[in-house]
Amino acid sequence: MAKLRASNSLLRGVEPYDPKYLPAQVGLNANETTFDVPADVRRAIEGEIARMAFNRYPDPMANELRQAIAEWHGVTRDQVICGNGGDELLFDLALAWGGEGNALLNVPPTFSVYAANARLTGTQVIDVPRLPDFSIDQDAVVARASQGDVGMVVITSPNNPTGDVAPLAFIERLLQATDALVLVDEAYMEFAPRDASAAPLLATYDNLVILHTFSKAYRLAGVRMGYLLASSAVVAELTKVRQPYSVDAVSQAIALQVVRHRVAFDEGIALVVAERARLAAELQALPGVVVYPSAANFLLVRFEQDASVVWERLYEQGVLVRDFSAGALTSGCLRISVGMPQENDRLIAALQAILA
Ligand code: PMP
Repeated sequence: MAKLRASNSLLRGVEPYDPKYLPAQVGLNANETTFDVPADVRRAIEGEIARMAFNRYPDPMANELRQAIAEWHGVTRDQVICGNGGDELLFDLALAWGGEGNALLNVPPTFSVYAANARLTGTQVIDVPRLPDFSIDQDAVVARASQGDVGMVVITSPNNPTGDVAPLAFIERLLQATDALVLVDEAYMEFAPRDASAAPLLATYDNLVILHTFSKAYRLAGVRMGYLLASSAVVAELTKVRQPYSVDAVSQAIALQVVRHRVAFDEGIALVVAERARLAAELQALPGVVVYPSAANFLLVRFEQDASVVWERLYEQGVLVRDFSAGALTSGCLRISVGMPQENDRLIAALQAILA
């Protein structure tokens, strides 16, 4: 019988998230770190995994890992919650602070997952677009957030795909102006200047939640581990909606080793930051190219030539980047992750040939 009852009406017209997973020799499309975890950290991880009991369920709340993360950031364990990548935590936030009657205040162009989660949870999306230079329209965000219908505001810092950091004075003004949950998504914060994180504001504001991930600076994109720092009241609400066993035992063990060995990642972060400056300068020297300043591990680049053709020609040469040219606010733009020196060299050489 060819019968299928219609799915939830919220799914009508929804396009599944498509990360454009393509094979490439040089993958600069997903803002990963393009090299492996340090060898001694890998050995420590392998030692842990060798001792693990796969037949037992993991600690649902990942308490050992939460404790280590809490000590790292100077908060208490009940202010930390771990998820299957930051993505899962974003969905939990949409469930807990979204839904009918709770709008999401979004500041595009930004990470597309926030609006997608809002749609799936029946949350209205209020867009306050960024200004032409991609800075946040601060007065407009504060004014709209304080109108009473907003459940959550998302400020991404550094922002994906534009790379800019949100000023802390603005975040504090926003926290004071609204009782909405203010999510500061700091997935890329390890690549930004040291004093750019909103974490110190956690001591003062119960409505602040900060997202971090192990996927970028800590090179665990394949492992799926992210966490939130927030007031214990926020964590308690999120505990009601989270999937009990979404953070598996293997990922918990790997992330715990990475937290313990976190200093070993500083050199890789410094390399990416140095390569970001070099890459920005070399891209800027190409004809018809504008590079936006970035505090993250990627650069947003605007091309005078048709950017989707540039994307195509790069891919033909084995270099995969992310095409943002179809976005209303990012027309002409490609987003390029900062790779290892030889990968960046290859990207520059390919672009020189394409734009000549
Ligand atoms: N936030 C931002 C801004 C991101 O770009 C990403 C990854 N693309 C995430 C959160 C989620 O990353 P993950 O699920 O790998 O932790």
